[in-house]
Amino acid sequence: MARVEFDHVSKRFDEDTLALQNFSLTVDDGELVVLVGPSGCGKSTALRLLAGLEQVTSGDILIDSKRVNEQTPQQRNIAMVFQNYALYPHMSVRSNLEFPLRMAHEHADSIKQKVTHIADILDLSELLERKPKQLSGGQRQRVAMGRALVRDPSVFLLDEPLSNLDAKLRSQIRADISQLQQRLHKTTLYVTHDQVEAMTLGDRVAVMNAGEIQQVGTPNQLYEQPHNVFVAKFIGSPGMNIIPSVLLKQEDNGISVAIGKQMVRLPPSSRHADEKLSQYINENIYVGLRPEAMFTSQLENSISIEVKTVSVEFLGHESLVYFRFPETGDDHSNNVYIARVSDKLEHTYGAVETFYINPDSIFLFDKEGSIIQI
Ligand code: ATP
Repeated sequence: MARVEFDHVSKRFDEDTLALQNFSLTVDDGELVVLVGPSGCGKSTALRLLAGLEQVTSGDILIDSKRVNEQTPQQRNIAMVFQNYALYPHMSVRSNLEFPLRMAHEHADSIKQKVTHIADILDLSELLERKPKQLSGGQRQRVAMGRALVRDPSVFLLDEPLSNLDAKLRSQIRADISQLQQRLHKTTLYVTHDQVEAMTLGDRVAVMNAGEIQQVGTPNQLYEQPHNVFVAKFIGSPGMNIIPSVLLKQEDNGISVAIGKQMVRLPPSSRHADEKLSQYINENIYVGLRPEAMFTSQLENSISIEVKTVSVEFLGHESLVYFRFPETGDDHSNNVYIARVSDKLEHTYGAVETFYINPDSIFLFDKEGSIIQI
C-alpha cells in the first residue's frame, strides 16, 4: 500500500514542449484517481514520471512521503498496464503471469500460489494454458492486469487500458476494474481521454489541459461545481453549453442575463452574491447551460427560451437537439448548442423551438472562463 504525491512537478522534453507544468496531485493509499484530458495534455507523461521511465525537470515525486526522483523503476515497485497489453505472444497465460515473479527469483511454490490467486481474482483460471492469440481482447486485457498485479506492486498504473476494446467490452471491463479496485484497494492512477470512463471509475478525477491540472474533485464535484469553462465543457455528455452573454441590472435592481434574445432574471440570492455579481454588470460573460437542464415542457419556476433548430439526433430514449440563437445581433449567432431531451422531436431545419429552463441551473463564467462563485 502506498500514498503517491506529485509536488509541483514539471517536465520539459525540449524548448517547445513543456509536457507538464507545476503538476501537484496526491493519490491516497488505496484510492483510484483518474487523469483525464484531451490528447497531448500530459497524462501519459505523468504516469511515466511516476513509474520512473522519465526524469522530472523540476519538482518532486514522493511515495509514502519518501522522495523517489532518483529511484529506478524497479526500486519504486510500481506496475503499469499499457493499452497494447504487451503480452508475450509465444508464452501461455500461465507463463505470462509467472514471468515477473521468475524475474524476481521467487520460489516455485510461491509463484504457483500467487498465479493461482491472481487467476482466480481475474477469472482467468480456465484460460491458463492458452496463448494470447487464443484470447478475446477483454481476456487479454485481464491477463495484462494480472501480470501487473501478481507481484503485488504498491502502486498500479493504467494507461488507456480500454482503448483497444469495442464499446460493449469497454463497459464490461470498466466494471471489472471497478470491482477489482474495491477488492484489492490498490493505490491506482488511471489515464484516459474518455470522460465517461473517468466519471464512472474514479474516486477522484483530475481534469488536465495543456500540461496543467484544471480541477481535481469527485465526479459529482466536477459536474456540479466546475471551476472553469474547460472543465464544464469536458465533463458531461455532451458537455455544458457555453453561451456568450451579458449581465444587466433591471430597474428594480434585479439582475438578468441574456440567453439568446431573451433576458432571464437570475433568482434572488444572498446580498453578498448580488454584490459580487454587480461587478459584472454590462460586462461580457458566459452563461453555462447543461444540455440536460433544458426541457420541452414547462416545470415549476421554469422560464422559456426560443431557439432555432439546426438538427435532431434521435437516440431512442432521448433526442439531442442542435440549435442556435439566431438574430441576436452579435458575432456568436452562428454558434451551435445542444439540448438533451427525453421527447422524440421532429427534425425541421430552422424551426423555432421553445425550451424551458430553471434559472437555478444557470452557471456564470467571467470572460476569462473562470466560474463566478455566487
Ligand atoms: P495521449 O492521450 O495522446 O496519449 P497524453 O495526454 O498522454 O496524450 P503525453 O503523451 O503525456 O500526452 O504528451 C504530452 C506532450 O509531450 C505532447 O505534446 C507530446 O508530444 C510530448 N511528448 C511526450 N513524450 C515525448 C518525448 N519522449 N519527447 C518529446 N516530446 C514528448
